[in-house]
Amino acid sequence: MSVRVRFAPSNTGRLHLGNVRTALFNYLFARNQGGTFILRIEDTDRARSRDEYTEAITDALEWLGMTPDEGPIFQTDRMDRYREAVDRLIDEGHAYRCYATPEELEAEREKAIAEGRKPKYSGKWRDRTDHPEDQPYTVRIKMPQEGQITIDDMVQGEVTVDVEELDDFIIMRSDGTPTYNFVVVVDDAAMEISHVIRGDDHLNNTFRQVPVYRALGHEPPRFAHLPLIDGLSKRGGSASIQDYREQGYLSEALVNYLSRLGWSHGDQELFSHDELVEYFGFDSVGRSPSNFDRDKLDWVNSEWMKKLPASELAECWIPFLERKGFDVEHDEQLVAIVNLMRDRAKTLVELTEESSYFFSADFDYDQKAVDKWMSADLKPAIEALIEGLEEIDDWNSDAIGTLYRAVGDEYDLGLAKLAQPTRISLTGSTSSPSVFSLVATFDRDEVIRRLHAGTELL
Ligand code: GLU
Repeated sequence: MSVRVRFAPSNTGRLHLGNVRTALFNYLFARNQGGTFILRIEDTDRARSRDEYTEAITDALEWLGMTPDEGPIFQTDRMDRYREAVDRLIDEGHAYRCYATPEELEAEREKAIAEGRKPKYSGKWRDRTDHPEDQPYTVRIKMPQEGQITIDDMVQGEVTVDVEELDDFIIMRSDGTPTYNFVVVVDDAAMEISHVIRGDDHLNNTFRQVPVYRALGHEPPRFAHLPLIDGLSKRGGSASIQDYREQGYLSEALVNYLSRLGWSHGDQELFSHDELVEYFGFDSVGRSPSNFDRDKLDWVNSEWMKKLPASELAECWIPFLERKGFDVEHDEQLVAIVNLMRDRAKTLVELTEESSYFFSADFDYDQKAVDKWMSADLKPAIEALIEGLEEIDDWNSDAIGTLYRAVGDEYDLGLAKLAQPTRISLTGSTSSPSVFSLVATFDRDEVIRRLHAGTELL
């Protein structure tokens, strides 16, 4: 049997982390099994569905490296199919027209509640053939009348419900529109979905859906209902995936972090895409809810900031720099800045803040640092440094280090006496990476310009 899975968001909003975790488990399972990953947009809620959300969903999946193999398939394009399926079920005696009026149903409901019973449609039209003409009707599915429905869920194990709990639910409303629990099954059957992987908030729907598969003449697929993620509404966890992207999280890190919400592989925390595909399986998906932990996400992101090839990280970073108004190109210098600075930031936003002095000399000097380190007696030594820097043949940190040590010896100054004023001149403060690398990462002309400007502070 070939594995075919689908991710089926509605396009009434952007994807949040919970949706993306569902998409990811579908994607990883498909890749692990050599199967097909399909995107279906559940857009039957016409009042709330928006094309812009469809676009946000497909963009997000692409950014995360989970481009579907098939789709997007839209439910609103398939209305004829649903109607055909309803007609067929009526013809074959698996569904029936119900002429009960809303008032009648409401009265039944109130009566049940008053008598302490669970409200449930009585099935009064199930076997009737005396259909009134020209009266509105709904179509209901015939649920089995006795026994139990058991699902052997890949995550939850065996789950059983007594059919007593279920009633003949509406599959088509009186206005001719099909209902959610019906269209999902028609689609999953038509798309030959082998495994339905979704949040466990859908488990109750599954008991209604299984008899619909059977009525349609299909074996139900396997199911995997994923435990919810706790804490998503707190600390910004409910934000959309696009928000995380804008906050400077890397797609590799989000995928890595989300993979661990419910799934594990020993105590390994960091996974490449290929490792996830290789190791993923439902044997290692747990039944208990997982917790959204922003600090851990930050940690995973900072690890990916170190792991990604510098040139790739630079590529991801450019939009953040451009948003700050910095005019940058993907060149050797940008890659050098990435290499020098990436350990100092957890996100691309932080990297931008930490590194802004490379792109603009428009910063304030830290006055405390100036008072401490910029003393007038250093002037001759700094001037000697500037002269030496102008003459270095190979602009690299070794040559720059050699020059600093030579000037230090000549003026009998410890390295810090030259290093700190250099840092302040180049960056505004004393907190920066190794000074020789820092100098080497700037253009020579810019270093000299800033050192000259710095001497004004002496
Ligand atoms: N549109 C449903 C949701 O977003 C999909 C449920 C399913 O996967 O069957 O929750």
